[in-house]
Amino acid sequence: MSALFPTYKRFNLSVKQASGTTVEDTDGNTYLDFGAGIGVCNLGHRHPDVQLALENQLNQYWHVSNLYQQPIQEATAKWLIENSTGDQVFFCNSGTEANESAIKLARKATGKHKIISFKQSFHGRTFGSMAATGQEKIHTGFGPMLESFHYVPFNDRDAVKRAVDGDTAAIMMEMIQGEGGIHMADPDFVQEVAHVCRQNDVLLIIDEVQTGIGRTGKPFAYQHYDISPDIITSAKGLGGGVPIGAMMAKKTLRDAFGPGSHAATFGGNPLAMAAAQAVLKHVFQDDFLHGVTEKGRYLQERLNKSVGDLPVVSSIRGKGLMIGIECTEDVSHKISSLIDKGLLVLNAGPNVIRLLPPLIVSKQEIDVAVQLLSGVLTDEKASIT
Ligand SMILES: *Cc1c(COP(=O)(O)O)cnc(C)c1O
Repeated sequence: MSALFPTYKRFNLSVKQASGTTVEDTDGNTYLDFGAGIGVCNLGHRHPDVQLALENQLNQYWHVSNLYQQPIQEATAKWLIENSTGDQVFFCNSGTEANESAIKLARKATGKHKIISFKQSFHGRTFGSMAATGQEKIHTGFGPMLESFHYVPFNDRDAVKRAVDGDTAAIMMEMIQGEGGIHMADPDFVQEVAHVCRQNDVLLIIDEVQTGIGRTGKPFAYQHYDISPDIITSAKGLGGGVPIGAMMAKKTLRDAFGPGSHAATFGGNPLAMAAAQAVLKHVFQDDFLHGVTEKGRYLQERLNKSVGDLPVVSSIRGKGLMIGIECTEDVSHKISSLIDKGLLVLNAGPNVIRLLPPLIVSKQEIDVAVQLLSGVLTDEKASIT
């Protein structure tokens, strides 16, 4: 029996090592990784720049606490504020912690308490972020949820307008719902949400934990839209495989987080900072981001051509290298078959195969992945009839 809590249903694959887009198991089998550790290894596994930054930092210092000045935190924060609407950064260790920080900041800065989020959203597993998550299955067994969290249907403009009132501190949303099934926010809806926020002094929090750090071809996915969020949260891809979280916010919110108001012992850990800086230097470059857009288009085109017309595929959608293939049935056995054939992919809800390849993936690797997907999706159809 495993010594670990069975919180994860794990595949029968024991990892030995990983490099670039490839994972190798303890039996010597290799896999093309189109999950990238759930959108974490955006530069692939053990990117040489990130590895070197970590090695250098290992020889300087590992931890001293946030009681002292740490120039490496300032330098990392600078990359984030120069590439977003944020002016101030709070570092923590995960996506859920970044969202907890956002919820606390929004409440303290506005003096209001209600947080509106969306059905099928995902914001994390700690109590505040779990309460903000609009999915029953995430709440089950842990009730009662925190008060003051309200969920409205995604892409429903009128529902948002109706939900906002004088107690509303913030609206929290993902630009593409990742865990919820790769559902994209409509541009009109996004404009309406931003408008409702401005009209009612409600803060707009964008959860970029999965969509950020170049995943969709921009530093952050909200930058595809003409909006100016008050708070942005980041994690997953930010550390290139090292745990980290960050919350960026506008300078008008600065004073609400004065000394003693919020903290994280490990937040801004120098190893995480070194890794994140190496990631940001690499990813936040126009030519790199254009490459992501271009490869994302290529991947969607190839998928549309080779599996788009299969009866089992109901829709292919996404942006950049964040793509969902929605099927007419549960995809768990398809994902297992893909792993057997050497391709690691993710699900997003029961019926969606989610692709989050490392952003350094090549077109040849995309071709290989599409061929494997096509084989499995075609076979499955044949076996049903
Ligand atoms: C993964 C995810 C989170 C939670 O991040 P953790 O690091 O697992 O706490 C929050 N929001 C979104 C959109 C995510 O995809």
